[in-house]
Amino acid sequence: MKIDALKLTNFRNIASLELQPVERVNIIYGNNAQGKTNLIEALWLLTGAKSFRGAKDAELLLFGSDYAKIEADFYKEGRVQTAQILFAAKKQAQLNEINLSSVTGLAGIFCAVVFSPSHLGLIQDGPSARRRFADTCICQISPKFIALMSDYNRTLLQRNSLLKDISYSAYLLDTLDVWDDRLAALSALIVKNRKQYLQRLAVHAGEIYSGISSEKETLHMRYAASAGLTDDIPAEQYKQWFLQVLAKARAEDIKTGCTSVGPHRDDIDFEINGVDVRSFGSQGQQRSSVLALKLAESRLISELLHDEPIILLDDVMSELDKNRQDYLLNHLSGNQVFITCCDKACFDNLQNGKAFHMVNGGLQ
Ligand code: ATP
Ligand code: MG
Repeated sequence: MKIDALKLTNFRNIASLELQPVERVNIIYGNNAQGKTNLIEALWLLTGAKSFRGAKDAELLLFGSDYAKIEADFYKEGRVQTAQILFAAKKQAQLNEINLSSVTGLAGIFCAVVFSPSHLGLIQDGPSARRRFADTCICQISPKFIALMSDYNRTLLQRNSLLKDISYSAYLLDTLDVWDDRLAALSALIVKNRKQYLQRLAVHAGEIYSGISSEKETLHMRYAASAGLTDDIPAEQYKQWFLQVLAKARAEDIKTGCTSVGPHRDDIDFEINGVDVRSFGSQGQQRSSVLALKLAESRLISELLHDEPIILLDDVMSELDKNRQDYLLNHLSGNQVFITCCDKACFDNLQNGKAFHMVNGGLQ
């Protein structure tokens, strides 16, 4: 898909803005605090997702105004379509001028992938950020996974509360087997889904990372299961393995009142040229790894949904050397890209795109 026109009204510091982006790379540049990230945020909201800055709807309205509006004309499936979100007392989204019951109705229609500095947490923060990333990606392409995860989380809560009760009422121990069995079955399915998704993602991320680093570095990612098994085995076998692991951990789990192994404790490891990125990666390597992941996600969406998502890159250029910047400007496949930066020097080498200068919430 490609955006033909974007119109913002009273969106954060942007009172009124109209943008006719080009089909390939659009650079939004300007000094700090001019509204560049605000513009990227507005584009992202058209996917029906929540703000990547964690903003509440009321914060999106220009100070002192009682509504904000995002409107876009975009080309998809051979025709021009329109999407609109009105933020007022009530939030209302429209697709092709028809009211949707919720903004999430835009999901899957308006497709985008976003990178912002806050996504660096994917490498720098604890394992829960990486699990969330993987699970959110899988949910986008496989809605059944949402039900599977909520089933698992419910079962985990019930097992944990039983573990706590057992320390007071030992006779409850007999009932633990039932929960172990259920948890093991669900764990096997979750791990299988995550591993399959990550294997596909890893192929793209590896290729992209090698492009970003001018073939000098190799990125590898690996699912690190807390249950310790790295081989790919059928779900039923994994369940049996997991039951043994639960049995071994049982005494300790009863003592602590919580389940110490399972998909809720798993992680994803990243290595560049065999070295752990989280502990040893440079700023540029960490940034490039997250970027490779995000771009890999966009390729997987293209493969599965047969549409090229828009790529939104906020403040990505800082900490990247000229070769890495050149890759982003000129070597991403056919997607429409929006990149924000402060410095004009960042896009000296732009070959197929246009730069827009943002000043005080407007374009010059
Ligand atoms: P940087 O280069 O520092 O990232 P930026 O151009 O990306 O800057 P934005 O994050 O887009 O800047 O924010 C621009 C300005 O918008 C900030 O000064 C902020 O105070 C202002 N702003 C944020 N929300 C609102 C709002 N609801 N109403 C008015 N102004 C707002
Ligand atoms: Mg910004």
